Amino acid sequence: MADPLVTRRGTLDVPTFLPDATRAGVRGVTSEDLRRIGIEGLVVNAFHLLRRPGARVVQAAGGIHRFMDWSGPILSDSGGFQVWSLIRQDPNRGVIRDNEVIFREPSTGEKWTLTPERVVGLQFQLGSDIIVCLDDCSDADDPESEQERSVERTVRWARRCREEFDRQLASRKADDPPLIFAVVQGGRVEALRRQCAVALAAIGFDGYGFGGWPLAADGALAVDPLRWVAESLPAEAPKHALGIGRPDHVVGAAALGYSIFDCALPTRDARHGRLYAFKPEWSGRRPSPGDPFYRAVRIHDPGYRVDHGPIEDGCDCPLCSRHSAAYLHHLFKVGDLSAERLATLHNLRFYVRLFELLRG
Ligand SMILES: [Zn+2]
Repeated sequence: MADPLVTRRGTLDVPTFLPDATRAGVRGVTSEDLRRIGIEGLVVNAFHLLRRPGARVVQAAGGIHRFMDWSGPILSDSGGFQVWSLIRQDPNRGVIRDNEVIFREPSTGEKWTLTPERVVGLQFQLGSDIIVCLDDCSDADDPESEQERSVERTVRWARRCREEFDRQLASRKADDPPLIFAVVQGGRVEALRRQCAVALAAIGFDGYGFGGWPLAADGALAVDPLRWVAESLPAEAPKHALGIGRPDHVVGAAALGYSIFDCALPTRDARHGRLYAFKPEWSGRRPSPGDPFYRAVRIHDPGYRVDHGPIEDGCDCPLCSRHSAAYLHHLFKVGDLSAERLATLHNLRFYVRLFELLRG
């Protein structure tokens, strides 16, 4: 069992799930809703917050915690992945160079220049508790030369992030500093994944994320790359499985030593009427990789029109404790906004319960 993750805004027992409040909110639910169902920490995205509302607005509000009324730990993702994927989809949106990333806002033409130093400074401005280095993403299918370049830049940028982090701490004389995590790249190339992990660990960070696409071509968890990275990092270091969120994938990655998870999947699925439920026969045991412990509920299916039981017997979420599957089916059918909200709270409560089981 890994050590709890100690942050300046509280200690997280691990493994822990941090929902994606990308733009300082989890769609359709409030921070109070999240507290009530047992969520302890959140992930925001520094790049998206830079675009809107802007770091100065958040800073003037008294920091990200005040701005969104959240007193628990907040991890701010640098946004390296998002910038990379936007530019990859449309090269007119910007360019990634050795020393900086330039992004153009398609609607306004506004230009953002991201450097390792700026990204760390931005996360200090937000008041994040866990700062994430800017990394240079690659696609798992990119040729090895691209992967090499991505690893080389990622390590160089991480060193600059670490130096900027230390400079910021020295100038702010903060009693209670945030943590800083680095992100490991290297695609599906074992030597590069290991080399990147070892190089980042030599610089020294409080935790490490698995970067890049975490799934194999067939949609299964990329077990080997995850294992190479976990094996190459210090055993006691917190390991963040960025973007890994399907319940069976979470169980697989937790078994490999990953202890921090964030993913938009449960909330996005909820808004589309896809809910998760433990199988009735599972009865609260701790799942191991490969165990069939849950089922997916597609609430739009016609059968739910007359299903007057809860989505999951025994679930104590605001949906299941008061409403039937038939009612949720109806709310989705008539386009009532509370449908997405109730489904989101159910799915997040499912994750809280799953992680309680994984902690044993
Ligand atoms: Zn429920």
